[in-house]
Amino acid sequence: MRKNAFRLPSLYPSQPRRDTRRAFTQTQKNEALARQKNKCAKCHKPLDLRATRFHHKVSWASGGRTITKNEVALCSKCHDIVTHAQRLKKVDKKRRTKTDVLGLPKTKLPKGYL
Ligand SMILES: [Zn+2]
Repeated sequence: MRKNAFRLPSLYPSQPRRDTRRAFTQTQKNEALARQKNKCAKCHKPLDLRATRFHHKVSWASGGRTITKNEVALCSKCHDIVTHAQRLKKVDKKRRTKTDVLGLPKTKLPKGYL
């Protein structure tokens, strides 16, 4: 999208408004590394820069901003664990909020089930 382009208000207010930029800048990355003394925020092992992931604490997809306050440096192993757990939580939340007219959860069994 063009920078400073005029944006209409979202037609889907339930959709979080995303930051236009997803990737952290090199300066932001350096800041996180300095703050964490080059250690993973989860396992506290020294970070190998080739396998360092800069993670949004509040995910970018759900409206988390690309700012240092929302940034954390993780080793790729911990990042995989964290993102997987977040994804599961999101799926679980979606599943719980989908209810029918009686307020009962809408569960659709996969094809070929039973
Ligand atoms: Zn780690």
